[in-house]
Amino acid sequence: MNNFELIGLNDALLQAIKDMGFENPSEVQEKAIPILLQEDTDMVALAQTGTGKTAAFGFPLIQKINVDSRKTQGLILSPTRELCLQITNELKNYSKYFKGLNTVAIYGGASITDQAAQIKKGAQIIVATPGRMQDMVNRRLVDISNIQYCILDEADEMLNMGFYEDITEILSHTPSEKSTWLFSATMPKEVATIAKKFMRTPVEITVGTKNMGTSNVSHEYYIVNARDRYAALKRLADANPDIFSVIFCRTKRDTQKVAEQLIEDGYNAAALHGDLSQNQRDLVMKSFRARQIQMLVATDVAARGIDVDDITHVINYQLPDEIETYTHRSGRTGRAGKSGVSMVIVSKSEVRKIKGIERIIGQSFERKEIPDGREICEVQLFHLANEISKTEINHEIDKYLPSIAELFEGLTKEELLKKFFSVEFTRFFNYYNNAQDLNAKGSTEVYEDEGDSTRFFINVGAKDDFDWMSLKDFLKATLDLGRDDVNRVEVKDSFSFFNVDSSKAEEVLRIFQDFKHQGRHINVEITKKSAGKERSGGGGRKGGGYKGRDKGERSFDKPSRGGDKGRRRSSDAPSGGKRRSSDAGSGGRKGKKSGSRSSSIESSIKRRRSKK
Ligand code: ADP
Ligand code: MG
Repeated sequence: MNNFELIGLNDALLQAIKDMGFENPSEVQEKAIPILLQEDTDMVALAQTGTGKTAAFGFPLIQKINVDSRKTQGLILSPTRELCLQITNELKNYSKYFKGLNTVAIYGGASITDQAAQIKKGAQIIVATPGRMQDMVNRRLVDISNIQYCILDEADEMLNMGFYEDITEILSHTPSEKSTWLFSATMPKEVATIAKKFMRTPVEITVGTKNMGTSNVSHEYYIVNARDRYAALKRLADANPDIFSVIFCRTKRDTQKVAEQLIEDGYNAAALHGDLSQNQRDLVMKSFRARQIQMLVATDVAARGIDVDDITHVINYQLPDEIETYTHRSGRTGRAGKSGVSMVIVSKSEVRKIKGIERIIGQSFERKEIPDGREICEVQLFHLANEISKTEINHEIDKYLPSIAELFEGLTKEELLKKFFSVEFTRFFNYYNNAQDLNAKGSTEVYEDEGDSTRFFINVGAKDDFDWMSLKDFLKATLDLGRDDVNRVEVKDSFSFFNVDSSKAEEVLRIFQDFKHQGRHINVEITKKSAGKERSGGGGRKGGGYKGRDKGERSFDKPSRGGDKGRRRSSDAPSGGKRRSSDAGSGGRKGKKSGSRSSSIESSIKRRRSKK
């Protein structure tokens, strides 16, 4: 008797297991299968990725299905289309000797009609992603009112991706008399909540150490002045040449804006937000999956369900309004057993929010410094050197070699290396030479800090029946800001002053443009800017564009009423000629012409990389 027989599996399964070449059950299988076979019980099973959870629920499920009935008896919910297909394949393998057992996959991005037709033919087991499942339940294309087994696979991932409501919805259409099996790699609070809400005294199985959260994600924060946010973002990207990231903004508008700026500055970036058509979003996701986009700028809603592994960094360009959302964001990285980094760019006034997030994630943040120009030059240089050393020689070059060799005759290897690397190094060096320190200076504990706050003049005062409190209330209401967001209100006779966090300064000016209060034209202006801090150019990957760009380093840096109209991509430098398959996501911008003279080594590297 082999070990699979010992845990109670029948012949048809044993034969399939033999075909697959499994010799012994894994630990989670050994623990879960006998219990699930013998009892009708709920179960919570925690085990790391790759420990064989699919078979742990798949074997007992298949053995328990009544193949004589064509009714749907088992429902498996899994977070992504890929997993959904993978599980379906596995189950089909396991059940190949069960005549009449049908397993059907249901997932988004494919024809719902085809899927409905497959189900109509009879599917005892459905493997589904929550979004599409809910859709089909609502349209009455599936009937799950008689299922006996419901499996939540990768429950932590599903919750991370924001599927809580869909899951709740779906479960409300299932009978209460059923067994629910929850499988998860980690047991964060949200999973515990689900278990409590939807399960009755589940048997709990843990393999390895119980992992409370996405501990393979490290959390970092960077304190900058609000107007340096964008420059800081570029530095972080430049300091991580292999970055493959999702960048979160709070609004669609900011998402679009940041993506456009990144594209303009030569990065492989694209926006993902609700104002794009489904088709545009699909295109963006396709390019992202194919690594043609390295920086995907997204809103929280649009990023729901991003199921891309290998994301190296999540960058919180702005913190979410609800700090609970942070876990959903950071969960986009550190998947499938890989490690990841979640970075937060904060202004001084937001630092206190970090504490709140630490409490929620049960992990602490590391405060880090935005790298300076020299560090970035070094990183880029060694990155390039590394790439070159790994490069396979293309022998098409051989025939040109004599002429090239002639050109470099008389140079030592050292001189040649210096020259060669200078091509790229000089580009970054010039760009970052004299770059400013972007880290916010001074105490970061103080909430109300001048350095980060913009002072405004407003042409109403005591004469208009305002005192500081009523003016503050008026401003809060008009600007739709919170209690702490308007401060240092000072009311004079016919005018007043107030402060608002610099990150909101642009918004303040926008709202008060053409604003009337009790028939009177209200005029709001910035009185003084935070003292003496020059902006830095920040990073960028395209050649030589630094000078041209500096003065145009646009609306993010400084409140300006000019809006976007003055923004031309103008003299902005010989571009590296990178592929911009991201155009679909940037609201229909046309791709910049590429291939000008500095079609740099780096960009060819990029191009190569994106084909992987
Ligand atoms: P998890 O869901 O825990 O991440 P999977 O169920 O996807 O893990 O299994 C990971 C891999 O291990 C799969 O390729 C699967 O075929 C294989 N596997 C599962 N159980 C066994 C076993 N008992 N012996 C050998 N390989 C197994
Ligand atoms: Mg799995």
